[in-house]
Amino acid sequence: MTLAFEPQPPVLAPVDDGKQFPVRRLFCVGRNYAAHAREMGRDPDREPPFFFSAWAETVVTGNSTIAYPQKTSNYHYEVELVVAIGKGGRNIPVETAMDHVYGYAVGLDMTRRDLQLEAREQGRPWDTGKNVEQSKPLGLIRKAGAGFDPTRGSIKLTVNDAVRQDADLADLIWPVADVIAYLSGLYRIEPGDLIYTGTPAGVGAVVPGDVMNASIDGLEPLAVTVGETLKD
Ligand code: MN
Repeated sequence: MTLAFEPQPPVLAPVDDGKQFPVRRLFCVGRNYAAHAREMGRDPDREPPFFFSAWAETVVTGNSTIAYPQKTSNYHYEVELVVAIGKGGRNIPVETAMDHVYGYAVGLDMTRRDLQLEAREQGRPWDTGKNVEQSKPLGLIRKAGAGFDPTRGSIKLTVNDAVRQDADLADLIWPVADVIAYLSGLYRIEPGDLIYTGTPAGVGAVVPGDVMNASIDGLEPLAVTVGETLKD
């Protein structure tokens, strides 16, 4: 068999035990903190979680510089707890959902907000707003186990040292176990999947030269600089 061309190797995300986590797919939860749902003009009344997806290749690992994307003038940060899936399954009950978690990391769900809102208002898909090149920075994955509790703890983002998002994981409308249970009712989740669990209030725009520092208590912080727009 001859391949027409060499396939892209998988995106590898470093883990705190020295291993590399091969990224398979990204599932992102929309509006999972009440205050953020309100700032986006929506009622946070515990509607079931909803998901959008992004390509694995949108992930940029570790402290890095990401390109400011083309076709936007309103590129937003969203700090999020990211769940790395280590064990697949379908229709997983909430009670055993946490057995499927490999680890956790700090992530950013960068968004072309102007394109997302235009799509939303026209009833169109969010893809061009959300599934954007280099838009899903990911920090070091911490293996699940003793010492990190995904149900509480500070989640924070600064831009050029000014605090922009400051909340607690306890404010998640749908905690990690519920998100996994819902998602696995829509798709068979697989090892390598990443779930971006949603952002708290305070989202806003960045421009080239800005430095974002994202942190969650108990996880390795993530520093991301916004760079220039790619030309080729
Ligand atoms: Mn998000």
